[in-house]
Amino acid sequence: MRKSLIAGNWKMYKTTEEITSYFSEFLPLVTNATVDIAICTPTIYLSKAIKLTDDSNVKIGAENCFHEIEGAFTGEVSIGMLVDIGCTYTIIGHSERRLSFCETDKSVNNKMKAALAGGIIPILCCGESLLQRESQITNAWIEIQIKMGLLDITVEEMQNVVIAYEPIWAIGTGKVATVEQAQEVICFIRQIIKSLYGETTAEAIRILYGGSVNANNIKSLMSTEDIDGALVGGASLKPIDFAKIVNF
Ligand code: PEP
Repeated sequence: MRKSLIAGNWKMYKTTEEITSYFSEFLPLVTNATVDIAICTPTIYLSKAIKLTDDSNVKIGAENCFHEIEGAFTGEVSIGMLVDIGCTYTIIGHSERRLSFCETDKSVNNKMKAALAGGIIPILCCGESLLQRESQITNAWIEIQIKMGLLDITVEEMQNVVIAYEPIWAIGTGKVATVEQAQEVICFIRQIIKSLYGETTAEAIRILYGGSVNANNIKSLMSTEDIDGALVGGASLKPIDFAKIVNF
């Protein structure tokens, strides 16, 4: 049995004051949650979020990381630094980073290896554009992203990998993929994992859906065979809305 994971992605939103009031509202609403809960915050607020969630069932994650251990990499944050402050997760290869910050499958793979070596749970994002979907190359595209992202990752390391399928056309657009579309691609991702690592790993890995998830559509997404949770952007910014998703 896979334990579901609902992860928020705050992107580049919030202030110190807003974070404090967010957690004082959110934490009491999710104390009895049956899923794992993660919130990925802007780097600058990670320590604060970790402190505010210290005694709770909410784990904090980064939205990005860099693969090198240390060095002259101005502006970057290493996995060791994330571990040092008590981070649990990091998102890797979000489409916004691939598109706006030129992240490649190679850099995504480097980050995956660094996260796993350092003890941070990576949430590996993949997803096709609308043009790719309409050109019927979704599966081919996803297969490349998954295989490249997981290059040289061992079967043991796979125990700590989370994958998020996020069709780019559904992110922040209000256009959620149909349950059938999401299930179909996520089932396909599980087959890729099976071909690479075998059935036990494929059955154990958590694969999330992301793209305009909200309190109204989470239940039907979670009713499918292969969707093990959600990566939630916009709707994770409001504590009551995100708590409704967590408690679906
Ligand atoms: C995301 O940021 O990963 C995301 C899925 O955003 P939204 O839920 O706003 O579509």
